[in-house]
Amino acid sequence: MRASLFLKLTLAFILVVLAGTALMAFLANRSATGGLSLYVDRGSELHARRIAPVLVAYYAQQYSWAGIGEFLTQGVRSDASRRTAQGPARRPFGRSPGGGLLWWLAGQRMILADAGNRIVFDSEDEMTGQELGEDVRPSMVPLLLRNQPIGSLVIAQFDQGDLEQQFLDRVNQGLALAALGTIVIALVVAVLLSRQLTSPIRRLTAAARGIAAGRMDQRVSVSGRDEVGQLAESFNEMAGKLQLGETQRRRMLADIAHELRNPLSTIQGNLEGMLDGVLPLEPAQVATAYDQTLVLSRLVEDLRLLSLAEARQLRLERSETDLGVLVQGVVDNFRPFAQERGVDLRTRIPAWSAKVTVDPQRMSQVVANLLSNALRYVASGDAVTVAIRQSDAGTEVSVSDSGPGIDANELPHVFERFYRVEKSRSRSAGGSGLGLAIAKELVETHGGRIWVESQAGKGSKFTFAIPS
Ligand code: ADP
Repeated sequence: MRASLFLKLTLAFILVVLAGTALMAFLANRSATGGLSLYVDRGSELHARRIAPVLVAYYAQQYSWAGIGEFLTQGVRSDASRRTAQGPARRPFGRSPGGGLLWWLAGQRMILADAGNRIVFDSEDEMTGQELGEDVRPSMVPLLLRNQPIGSLVIAQFDQGDLEQQFLDRVNQGLALAALGTIVIALVVAVLLSRQLTSPIRRLTAAARGIAAGRMDQRVSVSGRDEVGQLAESFNEMAGKLQLGETQRRRMLADIAHELRNPLSTIQGNLEGMLDGVLPLEPAQVATAYDQTLVLSRLVEDLRLLSLAEARQLRLERSETDLGVLVQGVVDNFRPFAQERGVDLRTRIPAWSAKVTVDPQRMSQVVANLLSNALRYVASGDAVTVAIRQSDAGTEVSVSDSGPGIDANELPHVFERFYRVEKSRSRSAGGSGLGLAIAKELVETHGGRIWVESQAGKGSKFTFAIPS
């Protein structure tokens, strides 16, 4: 699978380069061929036009082409010997204009026909006296004397076919070399690029397999911010969350087992003692065991509620509720417990009605959890105050106490499941370690926020806000 992606990319790259090179070679070849024949044709025609006046002048002297052969071939040798000294452009006709013309046209064939298309001169001397062929007529230049046609001139490239072919062969050779070079470069680039593209994907696959096999610490090194880099980053984020979830799941399992062990072993010990006759079979003994079953069922109920809330599967039965009335009801329920503990329980509930749309039962549970904590952790003689006020965040309910407070480094953890600042004291006070976690989930399910301000030795203030 991974080799195939690498292969696919490489092949696609090479295919594109091959197609591009072939197209380029084809177009370049066509342009070169067309350009060359245009250049040759136009060059020959230009030559013919430049020579034409000399020939017309010759004709004008005698109104005949007689002797044109001698005129044109005369003095060829003497002019040819000066070729290097003077060059064609500077002195094309030399001392003897006719001979100079032929020398100037070296490498080209000159054919001159009279007005009746009979060839009167052929520099190759092959066609003199013959009719001018139909095939050369398009490239001939008519010779006019006072607007009367007196003949026509054709200048053709000597060995034209060969030269053209040589030129085109060279062009093709160059193109083939360029194509070969391009393909080699493309191959190298394709292999490097494909490897660079597929190697992070290979690493991702290996890491994903590792996670599937339970190795949650798998991460991929991220390089670059391109799509693959972003994928690797998302993968790492996902792996991190999976690892955290796995750790939390394990910790929760261990916590639950630990929490169940205490009440269960108390019940077991009590029952065993009574069965063995070590403990008297009296209501007081049975009551101790019964109390532990209550602890157990509260723990199970708390866990159920928490897991439902965390999975956002808790169904809220919202109704318009006056928070003042609701809080007062909870406080009234706790008053006997406060009195029993010698705690001064106060309320600061405003006269205006604090109407919010909430599930009253769940809201009561939040207030009860906060209040029961406050009452359990303060000492006799301390005060606990429940207050309501309106703020930007909505309606705020706070439970403050003058109890022991919470250490700054413990504060960020108090809303975590099973987190206890003082393990033994909390457990002996009947806490499951889930009260604040449940309160937080319930408040957040209502779209609200909960927080704590506390200082060790100076008391704590737990507040939650419900949007109005
Ligand atoms: P618990 O069932 O142990 O009370 P909670 O989740 O309700 O569990 O509280 C977590 C921990 O936060 C408690 O164990 C306790 O140490 C601390 N805590 C909560 N409320 C108060 C408070 N009002 N004063 C001091 N400590 C508190």
